[in-house]
Amino acid sequence: MNCIVCIACVPDTATVIKIGPDGKGIDETGIKWIVSPYDEYALEEALKITEAKGGEVTVVTFGPDRADSALRDCLARGAHKAIHVRGGEASLGDSFTIASVLAAAVKGLSYDLILVGVKGVGTDNAQVGQMLAELLGIPHCAAVTTLELGDGVLTAGRDVEGGRERVVSPLPALLTCQKGLNEPRYAALKGIMAAKKKPVDKVEVASLGIQEGASPFYAVRSLALPPAKSAGTVIKGEDDPAGAAAQLVKLLRDEAKVI
Ligand SMILES: Cc1cc2nc3c(=O)[nH]c(=O)nc-3n(C[C@H](O)[C@H](O)[C@H](O)COP(=O)(O)OP(=O)(O)OC[C@H]3O[C@@H](n4cnc5c(N)ncnc54)[C@H](O)[C@@H]3O)c2cc1C
Repeated sequence: MNCIVCIACVPDTATVIKIGPDGKGIDETGIKWIVSPYDEYALEEALKITEAKGGEVTVVTFGPDRADSALRDCLARGAHKAIHVRGGEASLGDSFTIASVLAAAVKGLSYDLILVGVKGVGTDNAQVGQMLAELLGIPHCAAVTTLELGDGVLTAGRDVEGGRERVVSPLPALLTCQKGLNEPRYAALKGIMAAKKKPVDKVEVASLGIQEGASPFYAVRSLALPPAKSAGTVIKGEDDPAGAAAQLVKLLRDEAKVI
């Protein structure tokens, strides 16, 4: 069973984000770039499937040169091969264009399942997977937390408001993967060494019929950080707990206005 996993390369979630000089993007100085955490669930599921049923895992990313390290990380964890689509950094970062590029990059490949993160951490659009499935003309199911595979069919489970939903779909299909699906593995030293010899196919975006300088479907006008938090109020209640409770209630009612 062949699986394709789409990998977004994002700033480490521990990064203290600063706005860049143009006010429309982030200052990338010193940022460590990682595999988007939800894509780790997608990769882990693909690895488990191919370990159980045979086949290959191909990871694919569209992004600048720095995304190469994310692909190497996936290869070190066990992916068999990688595709790195490059070019168009100045204008092609919107979700629909990303989905179009990924569709063009994978459409000639033989696959049973495409696994995608539920969202790319940082931008959180949660759009690329569904758009990619539509462009490829295959069914999709979002935010999956359980998966069973049968003969040419999958059964996926997902959380819905107040309950669980089970979805059945023919293969090939696309799933967006949610936290809880599995426990992603780390790369072992042996895998890191093996990854150096695994193939990474470098593809220029223009060779996929996508115009490098095309206008984006949307553009970010401005970015702003949330206002700095105030210092907070500490209520000391050791000597007079009842008085402290009364003071807390007063503050919640009169200042925070939450009760
Ligand atoms: C040409 C280009 C230039 C970019 N330049 C910058 C930049 O300068 N600064 C910056 O911070 N970010 C940049 N990015 C990252 C980009 O803006 C998004 O953060 C990222 O691709 C996720 O987008 P999204 O929120 O629309 O995805 P979502 O819809 O939230 O993603 C859902 C899932 O789709 C898949 N996916 C999303 N994007 C990609 C991708 N690119 N390749 C493979 N799979 C993907 C992943 O599995 C992801 O979990 C660039 C991306 C591209 C392609």
